[in-house]
Amino acid sequence: MIDESGAQDDWSLPDELVTELNELQEHELREVVHLAQRRIRELQAPVSDKIEAAPGEEILSTEERAEYTEVIKSEPCGEGCSECPHGPYLYHVYEEVRPDGRTSLHWVFLGRVFGRIDRRE
Ligand SMILES: [Zn+2]
Repeated sequence: MIDESGAQDDWSLPDELVTELNELQEHELREVVHLAQRRIRELQAPVSDKIEAAPGEEILSTEERAEYTEVIKSEPCGEGCSECPHGPYLYHVYEEVRPDGRTSLHWVFLGRVFGRIDRRE
């Protein structure tokens, strides 16, 4: 359980594990967090199941990677443009766990994709 201050003291983890974690150095704890996040990712539904195209967007591909989900999509820039949608653009999408335990998707824009999408021209 998590109380109002966000503190948690009645861990359901084995005592030995909690003791071991409490003895780790900061850099080791960061590795534990990294490992745990990767493991959570493996256990959760794939991020690609949660990705939906916004109005005017077109999802061209999604691919699950170890640390993120690669998404290539084209997207509109606004109203009154005759060249929409633009792209395709590459994103890395991370699922982040918020302090309240819920998750949200974090999109990192990496740039335009050239020569990876087959175009019928
Ligand atoms: Zn446009």
